[in-house]
Amino acid sequence: MSAHVNQQRLWDSLMRLAEIGKTAKGGVGRIALTDLDRQGRDLFCTWARDAGCEIRTDRIGNIFARRPGRNPDAAPVVTGSHLDSQPLGGKFDGAFGVMAGLEVIRALNDAGIETEAPIEVVDWTDEEGARFAAGCIGSAVFAGMRPLDEALALIDADGISVETALDEIGYAGAAAVGDIDFKAYFEAHIEQGPILEAEGLPIGAVLGAQGQRCFMVTLVGEDGHAGTLPMAKRHDAFMAAAEMSLTLEALASTYEPAAVITVGHVRVVPNSRNTVPGRCVFSIDSRHPDEDTLERMEAEMTGTMQAIADRRGVALEVAPVTRAAPVAFNPVCIDAVRQACQARQVRFIDMHSGAGHDACKIAKVAPTGMIFVPCERGISHNEAENARPEDLATGAQVLLDVMLATANN
Ligand SMILES: [Zn+2]
Repeated sequence: MSAHVNQQRLWDSLMRLAEIGKTAKGGVGRIALTDLDRQGRDLFCTWARDAGCEIRTDRIGNIFARRPGRNPDAAPVVTGSHLDSQPLGGKFDGAFGVMAGLEVIRALNDAGIETEAPIEVVDWTDEEGARFAAGCIGSAVFAGMRPLDEALALIDADGISVETALDEIGYAGAAAVGDIDFKAYFEAHIEQGPILEAEGLPIGAVLGAQGQRCFMVTLVGEDGHAGTLPMAKRHDAFMAAAEMSLTLEALASTYEPAAVITVGHVRVVPNSRNTVPGRCVFSIDSRHPDEDTLERMEAEMTGTMQAIADRRGVALEVAPVTRAAPVAFNPVCIDAVRQACQARQVRFIDMHSGAGHDACKIAKVAPTGMIFVPCERGISHNEAENARPEDLATGAQVLLDVMLATANN
């Protein structure tokens, strides 16, 4: 039994969806729970109903479109992603996963295939986290990782709550959140990184997502006069931060596979042209797929920074701010993706996700896998985000094969 995705229909759907919130430079700005998000949701629901699906919306606004199976009591095999975007985002991040799911249903309809378990496509509420103080809101509540009441009470910069915004766009559903078991969850997504394109490979079988440890570092030296204080007598907090940053950059490449370490925020005090800075605060974002390695990295970073601080006569304080464990996807789901690629002679590699996804939350409560497709130069969260129609179709075809096999076994 097999069914074939329609590349042109998938592409046309993505392009039609991208009209909603279209930006000047050809990207998409469809921020969660705005009227544009409502329009995107409405279009998805219309298309899903046209394809014979029943729609269910839960209290955090997650939308589930179900294609019934032979066995109405069977747990559904679910796919999806998110329809919201960054303020200046692209046409494919999230949208591809939802439209690929819709294409799976349309292709099954074309082939006249009835599955044993139902097939569902979900649009998770606010994955991007661009408006409220958190991302992956819908999937995190679904997975029990964030209480519903707390999520509904999150407010945006104008003081509007998630609850009010959901009401305003008409997507405060009645279904309880998370009261349904998934047989499995598969999410198709653009890679948002450069690896697949560089390797010339159409598919990444995603093993899981990196863990993350973030810190705020405070250095206290001594303010001084930029003209009178000799170099040797300085306790320059910024120079200590600079040396630490370069040391961390070098350290990242010594791990296997290579870690990523980012110093993205630096605050220099007093930030005056002619004062030797006595205080500097900076952020460290460190990520790696392995928890033990993250632990070793933290120890090495802290030790190295302490040595630099001691040599420069600067006080060091390292405060942990975020700690997210790596996510490992389900071995059976990962293998299903590999097998689907092999059966169609589609080349693939195993890889880790550098970014967070709804699938990382759902992995807590359901067997989960992800399918990555290449995107141009790895660019994402950018209006220039782009992907090739044939790569998107290959990803959707692998998704279809995996879901069909899972729904029937
Ligand atoms: Zn995304």
